[in-house]
Amino acid sequence: MPQKQLRIMVTGGAGFIGSHLCDRLVKEGHDVLCVDNFYTGNKRNVRQLMGLENFEILRHDVTFPLYVEVDQIYNLACPASPIHYQYDPVQTVKTAVHGAINMLGLAKRVGATLLQASTSEVYGDPSQHPQVEAYWGNVNPIGPRACYDEGKRCAETLCFDYHRQHNVDIRVARIFNTYGPRMAVDDGRVVSNFIAQALRGEPLTLYGDGGQTRSFCFVDDLVEALMRFMNTPDVTGPVNLGNPVEFTIKELAELVRSKIPNSPDIIYKPLPQDDPMQRQPDISRAKSMLGWQPEVPLNDGLEKTIAYYKSIM
Ligand code: NAD
Ligand code: UDP
Ligand code: UDP
Repeated sequence: MPQKQLRIMVTGGAGFIGSHLCDRLVKEGHDVLCVDNFYTGNKRNVRQLMGLENFEILRHDVTFPLYVEVDQIYNLACPASPIHYQYDPVQTVKTAVHGAINMLGLAKRVGATLLQASTSEVYGDPSQHPQVEAYWGNVNPIGPRACYDEGKRCAETLCFDYHRQHNVDIRVARIFNTYGPRMAVDDGRVVSNFIAQALRGEPLTLYGDGGQTRSFCFVDDLVEALMRFMNTPDVTGPVNLGNPVEFTIKELAELVRSKIPNSPDIIYKPLPQDDPMQRQPDISRAKSMLGWQPEVPLNDGLEKTIAYYKSIM
């Protein structure tokens, strides 16, 4: 990690991952500018930072130009859960694409390094397992998830074109399913849904037969990876960041139920269209290039997340 104080902008800084990243950057003494339009994030996520000399928050939509002077940009602004990104799909594409253009334009002007939050969704419903960065993916370009998947694929394209054409210093991080405290209760993602349902005494909604898989990374591990990646020179990526331990969604449901006394039963609901059947990152690149691997097992991360939900519900 750099010892010097840097001016660092985090777009989407009031969201789930962004707020944890702001916490870490502020703690390390950097001058942090959190930029957010509060579409899915909120000020509560960063209230512990408000009033600190090295933290600032700006309400701004990244689809519009922004002129600031910074050394590093973490471009995280984008709704991330299917119900949120499908609520206004056109705005999702604009955020991913126009947002990336504006932030890359800014990086180009001021000579900042830009880390783009990409996603495992660029692999779509993958036919290669586990997913390596060299796999080009299997995305339906016109389906209900395309606004997010194709938006993020285009953001990756823009990063590499600004890099090749304008020499912008880029980092493309393909983030796999991440969970932890501050995930919005109503965001529809599986970890937040199951915990909130179990705490309310409602049945856990399992989509399909629950045999589909995901690999869940605790947010502290992910934030460590993002910061290492940003500060590793000459590695553009893409680099997969996630926890390679794979679970079926049914196993996740049972694990959550085992941790919450008197948990209700599971009810089965239809599998959403284009829902990927399996997902597991190959993190060899992150290990060798960043010297990183996740440390928090799902069991421990779930305990912390459940404690957070108990404190706010
Ligand atoms: P989140 O919804 O909690 O955070 C996104 C933040 O971006 C919110 O604060 C939201 O208000 C803000 N935002 C949205 N549109 C904006 C706009 N036009 N202008 C300014 N701000 C805007 O989601 P998250 O889970 O923290 O995700 C953060 C980033 O990581 C996203 O880019 C997401 O695509 C990526 N990602 C997350 C995961 C995951 O599992 N959580 C997985 C892969 C990729
Ligand atoms: N941009 C921005 N902040 C800056 C510099 C650029 O928001 O500090 C925006 C600018 O409005 C433009 C986009 O980034 O729409 C892309 O910038 P670039 O310089 O690549 O393109 P151009 O301005 O030549 O269209
Ligand atoms: N899922 C589920 N019940 C829920 C929410 C999600 O069974 O209440 C499933 C969903 O169909 C998917 C997996 O859990 O197979 C992960 O869903 P999430 O929306 O968290 O992430 P993504 O599909 O984007 O990986």
